[in-house]
Amino acid sequence: MTDLDFDVRWYPGMRSRRRSAAPPIQVHRAAPNTVLLRQSIADNFEAPFLYLLFGEERALLLDTGATADATRFPLRATVDTLIEEWLQGHPRDGYELIVAHSHAHGDHVAGDGQFTDRAHTRVVGHSAGDVAAFFGIGSWPRGAARFDLGGRVLEVIPTPGHHPSAVAIYDEGTGILLTGDTVYPGRLYVQDFPAFQESLRTLCDFSAAHPVAVVLGAHIEMSTRPFRDFPLGSTWHPDEAPLPLTVRDLHTVRDAAARVADRPGAHRFANFIIWNGPCRREAAAQSARLLLFRVFGR
Ligand SMILES: [Zn+2]
Ligand SMILES: [Zn+2]
Repeated sequence: MTDLDFDVRWYPGMRSRRRSAAPPIQVHRAAPNTVLLRQSIADNFEAPFLYLLFGEERALLLDTGATADATRFPLRATVDTLIEEWLQGHPRDGYELIVAHSHAHGDHVAGDGQFTDRAHTRVVGHSAGDVAAFFGIGSWPRGAARFDLGGRVLEVIPTPGHHPSAVAIYDEGTGILLTGDTVYPGRLYVQDFPAFQESLRTLCDFSAAHPVAVVLGAHIEMSTRPFRDFPLGSTWHPDEAPLPLTVRDLHTVRDAAARVADRPGAHRFANFIIWNGPCRREAAAQSARLLLFRVFGR
């Protein structure tokens, strides 16, 4: 399998509201054909990770970030430059770009509009039906589909629970499993708990049958201190937990989810938090109440 390089220091943001000098998108090459992009936390506290995977015939961009405005968040220009660089070493006419999504929350699809007029480009729709139709997944969410980038086959695995159209993407060549907001070092917001548990079982079973080198999600919200996350909305992440997770972490999340399935609210574990409840706004209110309780004891 391809060697992967995750030796990168992600921009931590700033404590004050001074204007940031950091670039709007941080680019890191984990392998020559595998690029990690992260939206600057100075522009949006979600600071999502995006992935650009190159095959011989087409590239796949997974997610388009939290900001539509190309002047603030020049995703299209960044991706175009990366594709031009790739084509210098791998010349080909009509090289295609597929813009797909880990799921359709606003912090993962906002930049879609930057790609609508791009030649040789297909942007996948946002509903589970759109995703199933595009990749040819027969019986959502039970099935899966193989998607060939040209000499690089991806497996697209439905993983609803956090969001109805969520998918994980597995890359045979590198062993990378991309898990979006379903599994990452942070607050795992679960909208549909039975579906989430089923998806975790699917991912664990899949990882038992395929070599998974690393599990990569779409955010970091935990710090390097076990059980501690950065407050929701914080644009200052001084000591983030590492992005890469392992198959063991998938098992840990699956088992933790089974323990808290019947208990709404926040459940804190060493390197993730499970929010058993519907939405982020409620979670934020609950987080504030928890904080008050810790500070004032009520
Ligand atoms: Zn999400
Ligand atoms: Zn997200």
